[in-house]
Amino acid sequence: MAKHQFQTEVSQILHLMIHSLYSNKEIFVRELVSNSSDALDKLNMLVLTDENYKGVNFAPRIDIVIDKEAKTLSISDTGIGMNETDLVENLGTIAKSGTKAFLEKLSGDQKKDSKLIGQFGVGFYASFMVADKVEVISRKAGEESAYKWSSMAGSEYDIEPATRDSHGTTIIMHLKDDEAEFLETHRIDSIVKKYSNHIPFPIFMDKEEWVAPAEGEEKGHNEIVNKQINKANALWTISKNDISDEEYKDFYSSIAHDSSEPLIWMHNKAEGALEYTTLFYVPSKAPMDLYRVDYQSGIKLYINRVFITDDEKELMPTYLRFLRGVIDSADLPLNVSREILQSNRVMAKIKNASVKKVLGELAKLAENDTEKYDAFYKEFGNVLKEGLYSDFGNREKILELLKLNTLNAHEPVMFSKFVEGVDAEKKEIYYITAKMSLQMLKNSPALERFKAKGIDVLVLNEEIDTIVFPMVSEYNDYKFVNVTDAKLEESEEEKKEHEEKAKSLEGFVGQLQNALGENVSKVETTFDLTESAVCLKVDKEDQGYMMAQMMKQFGN
Ligand code: ADP
Ligand code: MG
Repeated sequence: MAKHQFQTEVSQILHLMIHSLYSNKEIFVRELVSNSSDALDKLNMLVLTDENYKGVNFAPRIDIVIDKEAKTLSISDTGIGMNETDLVENLGTIAKSGTKAFLEKLSGDQKKDSKLIGQFGVGFYASFMVADKVEVISRKAGEESAYKWSSMAGSEYDIEPATRDSHGTTIIMHLKDDEAEFLETHRIDSIVKKYSNHIPFPIFMDKEEWVAPAEGEEKGHNEIVNKQINKANALWTISKNDISDEEYKDFYSSIAHDSSEPLIWMHNKAEGALEYTTLFYVPSKAPMDLYRVDYQSGIKLYINRVFITDDEKELMPTYLRFLRGVIDSADLPLNVSREILQSNRVMAKIKNASVKKVLGELAKLAENDTEKYDAFYKEFGNVLKEGLYSDFGNREKILELLKLNTLNAHEPVMFSKFVEGVDAEKKEIYYITAKMSLQMLKNSPALERFKAKGIDVLVLNEEIDTIVFPMVSEYNDYKFVNVTDAKLEESEEEKKEHEEKAKSLEGFVGQLQNALGENVSKVETTFDLTESAVCLKVDKEDQGYMMAQMMKQFGN
């Protein structure tokens, strides 16, 4: 048996890493399964491309075996395997990722084809978070000898000859006393389903199953069956044309935990400088927690089909929080942390492009399928409006997706349709907003002069409208103008008539001013009203008024 020292940094970094690299221990399963998946990917590629591997049998599978008595958990694969040199280089050297070296040797096209997960050369050591001793028995494809690598996570590891029937690698973890939970079948089963359900190779494990009584038998019995426990289909990586609607729907129910069908889905593969795939669904009904601060994000982040997180609200903007689905990119580090994600340039680019894509798809839906769009808008229109103040860059696009009530229309109309009717020279979009019934708001005296002139006005009566629309000042070269600030054109005759009338009412106005005294700041004649005799007007510059509005927004 040959004793080896870890490369100096390794033993120093090992300790640090085991204790602080990953916040939850269960991901060691993900790391080892990912390594197996990589090893299978590598062999697959060699068998397909390299004459020397033509004779190698490629029968991809990953096996997880629990031995409660020996307190070991083993993960085996039928992948490329490692010889003695590989073991030293790959497992004795930190951040010297064999996978990365392999990738660098590949040509551009091959790189594209390979779906390698490992990039950073640290995942394997995650096994030491739960095991005090790890053994690796491996035989390289196309070679005769097998080797056993073992280490107690100290400063050294051993390599000795071993036996293995065929190529591949087995990792045996001798679990620490307080990690017995990882000897439970259901625990491992659920970890695999959570993180590795969609890696492209089958994972098998022994599971106890109830067998119903056969004829003539009185009782049924439990039986141990070796079963595939992951789906092994990364649906989003499959080409759109090869996926049926049923498959899309099934996948939705598995990731969104929603038994009703999704309203629509958007499956997009970006190629070029940045490669990523997104598959987004819009549910048909708003989730219960849509308006709660602690809502559950519906987007899962994968890196090359390896699950990273579904608890990251920054993956998509909050006004699209109704989306369910997957973002998968090969251009992010597998050990990405929340902090890295939030400041990562790649992630920011994916996010921006995805938002544009989603808004674009919704615009198409509005154009092509009014019924579906209405169903969408009924559930999520008000959430979308939040984007008017949170996503300045996409404000125009968001406005175009809104369906709003107007003074002249009986049904809500698409904003872009409304804009078509706006005076093309004045380019002023008039709106009135207050939280009250639509009919009451439409009856506001402030709208009388618009009615008289037949000018259409956006009538915005939802609470969210009262908050967001005062912050929207422009749409392209159009201006948003609150009806109370609007100056409508008067003809010369109207002007003359108004002046004369105002003059004749001077005495009356004076009397009113005297009677009301301190209660009002000013009494004046107006020609804005066509039906009502009088109205109260607030002074927008008034401190008291501004304060009251602010208090209202804070819910007081
Ligand atoms: P990474 O996967 O990021 O490269 P790891 O620490 O997870 O880093 O693994 C280090 C290296 O060990 C891998 O790059 C690979 O060369 C090798 N390796 C690990 N597990 C296996 C396996 N099951 N089969 C073959 N090689 C493996
Ligand atoms: Mg790895």
